Amino acid sequence: MLDRLDHDFDTVHDECGVFGIYAPGEAVAKLTYYGLYALQHRGQESAGIAVSDGDNTMVFKDMGLVSQVFTERDLTTLQGHIAIGHVRYSTTGSTNWENAQPVHKANENWSLSLGHNGNLINTNELRRRLERHGSEFQSSSDSEVIAELIVTSRRKTIEASVRDAVSHIKGAYSLVIMTDEKLIGVRDPYGIRPLALGQMNGHYVLSSETCGLDVIGADFLREILPGEMVVIDAKGLNSYQILEAAAPSLCIFEFVYLARPDSMIYGRSVAAARKQMGRELAREAPVEADLVIPVPDSGNNAAQGYAEQSGIPYGEGFVKNRYIGRTFIQPSQTIRQLGIRLKLNPLREVIEGKRLVVVDDSIVRGNTSKKLVQMLRKAGAKEVHMRISSPPIEWPCFYGIDTAERKDLIAANLSVERIQNFLGADSLKYISHAGLVKAVGGVEVGDDGVRPFCTACFDGAYPIPIPSRLKITKLSLEKGKKAETLF
Ligand code: SF4
Repeated sequence: MLDRLDHDFDTVHDECGVFGIYAPGEAVAKLTYYGLYALQHRGQESAGIAVSDGDNTMVFKDMGLVSQVFTERDLTTLQGHIAIGHVRYSTTGSTNWENAQPVHKANENWSLSLGHNGNLINTNELRRRLERHGSEFQSSSDSEVIAELIVTSRRKTIEASVRDAVSHIKGAYSLVIMTDEKLIGVRDPYGIRPLALGQMNGHYVLSSETCGLDVIGADFLREILPGEMVVIDAKGLNSYQILEAAAPSLCIFEFVYLARPDSMIYGRSVAAARKQMGRELAREAPVEADLVIPVPDSGNNAAQGYAEQSGIPYGEGFVKNRYIGRTFIQPSQTIRQLGIRLKLNPLREVIEGKRLVVVDDSIVRGNTSKKLVQMLRKAGAKEVHMRISSPPIEWPCFYGIDTAERKDLIAANLSVERIQNFLGADSLKYISHAGLVKAVGGVEVGDDGVRPFCTACFDGAYPIPIPSRLKITKLSLEKGKKAETLF
């Protein structure tokens, strides 16, 4: 099992990134490798590629980063013209080889490989039902349940089988699916996780983010629509609306932290949206200070926006070790205690004697932010004012993001003032809910009363109803108040 350093637990993680390509005459395994390389930020625990030559499919997957999993020789062995790829960070299912993707399954008619980004909320029910009918599972992941639903569907075609399978699943899913002959992309009816369609030399490409298209020189065509299935084969691309689209509920955290800044989502540059968050934050939470510094890298754009709006100079107060990722090395207690220091080191000459505005994207448990404040003070900062470009995270995510349980979310348990005291900061302010939605170019609630984004981890308004077994009791922040039940 991979070990994680302490600070890895104190941040928001995406679950996965997916990629797919149908390109006769091209080295699809290598193109998929580069696509996954660009999507590496979405998952660092395992990587895998499946390739078909039209008759047979080969799957290669292992634990580790894309660059650790594949060698030149592996990629040369993976011959064919259709490929899908996957990078994983686990939320459902543990961290082991069996849970790495693509998942591969077969029935008497065809075999399929599947990569999934998202998280189902009815996995256990489906799994039990399938097991009662004789299904066997190799992994504990919800993605294998989707693949099993497809291969055990009694429909005649893969298209009909996928349509049948997704009619049973609930939750967030952007899927890339491959048979020996076809590449298929599917997005859940709420469109919670992104999935982009591109074209390269007349061939179609699917990618969780547009940065996966850019890296191989593919042009962005459009996003796969909520509830849409695209099927790409020798005849070209066909689109089917297989589920009725629900109220659009793209995860707003894609803009805040998850997506790469050079990606485009909803036609909006992620970097520009983050900068706008910083501007909004500066308007909502001004402070007298000498320097604005980001917590790199996710705070960079928002800090620039804050600096531009406030007129306070922007500087880089931390140096980031860009090469630290998931490690297979078991950290000793001494190393573990270093925590965030392995990733970030303050630049004394920049921050000494300064009143700092420190811009970060979010606070989950609060331990990392506390250590950052301590590091800055030790390095001579005169004042430390924390500014956060997302509202307080009070609710867990059930749709594929690992935010932590509610009992561990600091904002679910402490008021902002008490969090500020816990961090040891001179001030702490979060962007407002309305300010965040405005920054990403949306409206908080549309004319039809519908929210265009999922913002559930901030407000508990889950767009896909959460089953009662996951019922959450709202914690009271004030002593003596009776606990309220959210659902
Ligand atoms: S709950 Fe939060 S992290 Fe999860 S999908 Fe909704 S906005 Fe994204």
